[in-house]
Amino acid sequence: MPVTPHPEFPAFPIIRKASRRDRLPGLAMRRDRLASLRRMVVESRGEIGRAINTDFGGRPRQETELLEIVPLLNALRNTSRHLRRWMRDERRHVAWPFQPGSAWVRHEPLGVVGIISPWNYPLLLALGPLVDVLAAGNRAMIKPSELTPGFSDLLKRLVSEYFDADVVTVETGGVEVAQAFSALPFDHLIFTGSTAVGRKVMQGAAANLTPVTLELGGKSPAVLAPDYPLDKAARSIVLGKFTNAGQTCIAPDYVLVPEGKAEALAREIIKRVETAFPAGRSKDGYANIITARHRTRLAEAVDEARDGGATILRPSGDYGEKIAPTLVIGAPEDCLLFREEIFGPILPIVAYGSLDDALAFINRRARPLALYAFTDDRDARKSILDGAISGGVTLNGTLLHIAQDDLPFGGVGDSGIGAYHGRDGFRRMSHARAVYKPGFVNAFEHVGPPFGKLADIIIR
Ligand code: NAD
Repeated sequence: MPVTPHPEFPAFPIIRKASRRDRLPGLAMRRDRLASLRRMVVESRGEIGRAINTDFGGRPRQETELLEIVPLLNALRNTSRHLRRWMRDERRHVAWPFQPGSAWVRHEPLGVVGIISPWNYPLLLALGPLVDVLAAGNRAMIKPSELTPGFSDLLKRLVSEYFDADVVTVETGGVEVAQAFSALPFDHLIFTGSTAVGRKVMQGAAANLTPVTLELGGKSPAVLAPDYPLDKAARSIVLGKFTNAGQTCIAPDYVLVPEGKAEALAREIIKRVETAFPAGRSKDGYANIITARHRTRLAEAVDEARDGGATILRPSGDYGEKIAPTLVIGAPEDCLLFREEIFGPILPIVAYGSLDDALAFINRRARPLALYAFTDDRDARKSILDGAISGGVTLNGTLLHIAQDDLPFGGVGDSGIGAYHGRDGFRRMSHARAVYKPGFVNAFEHVGPPFGKLADIIIR
């Protein structure tokens, strides 16, 4: 196949040529690449943490460790352990007219996969997809976010040290580079970022018929059924919403509570926040908002809700430059807080009359990435699961479905296309190639036009 030159990305033709030359890397080669990735992360742990902390203007070291490095190392361990089994050909059923014969699926690499990643978990969201990409025998080019420049430069250097340039490369740059990158004729493109940019990425990829996996955002609801203790729910909501100062794709965006309980829940949440993210420790115990522009957007959204008659509650103490955890009760439904993904430490609490009203509130919005249901009542749980769709669900908690090795992670509708992680990620990054082989004696050997009554016989 002729190699088209790509002046902006000289690495692309090199990497594509290598992927065409060595199309089917075996188990040992794949495990070796995963091991290099593991060494890269383990040996540079401290440096990675410091780069991310600087890019954020302050983010707790433990958040980077627990929410980026640990899940990445777990994914590497899980994938390396099960890869042999996932790679096996899969026998499939053969219908009687085609007997004797055998049918199977080969899971083959796609080729070169592009990965575009966001700033909010810069390590995990660049390298988590890479685990699945390499496990499935592909090569990759990564375009990390321009909003974490220190980390992105570090990643570029580390990848060039631990990987050959025809296996994985990193391309840094802003929106223009990202646009040109998404127009490369990759064999697959994984994009993690906002829904608005996801649309553009899919348009760019369409020109090459490049299939996409889109991991997008959205407004993930938490619903408290009437039976659930407020203090228990508050603990999980604080974890999900205020870790990384709410800049988490699956953070609960807003909470629905039975009428009359909004203030009591807010009090429980504030109590928890004061011990989990105390104001005095905010310098290194609570994450900053990524840029001044993002801070302004959040502040304006709160002001608009207040002007619309909402009550604003914050924990005591001074959070300095950072945006303090903020609860908003009674915000009008048409305000910015309900029109866009919040992506910051601001939590609207919405009172509902019946569970059906709560579900209707969710279903008036685009399909969310995550849904959190707090209840020990089986009927209520079923009503919530059946009544509102989402990419994934954690029951009686937040965030934890993303940490399950054997569950697909992805969105639905506006929150994304396709899922990855573990064996689902391996499959997503593979081509399921169908193979049929007739047996020695086979009816179809003697079949050819004119077909006569063949159709009648087979259909019967
Ligand atoms: P973003 O969409 O602004 O940017 C993501 C990446 O896309 C960056 O690398 C950027 O350079 C690139 N980009 C920008 N414009 C582009 C264009 N026109 N064409 C191609 N690429 C372009 O997102 P962000 O602000 O970095 O991240 C926050 C968003 O990501 C939130 O909406 C959040 O919910 C979502 N997110 C989703 C997941 C998930 O797994 N589903 C995870 C984290 C974040």
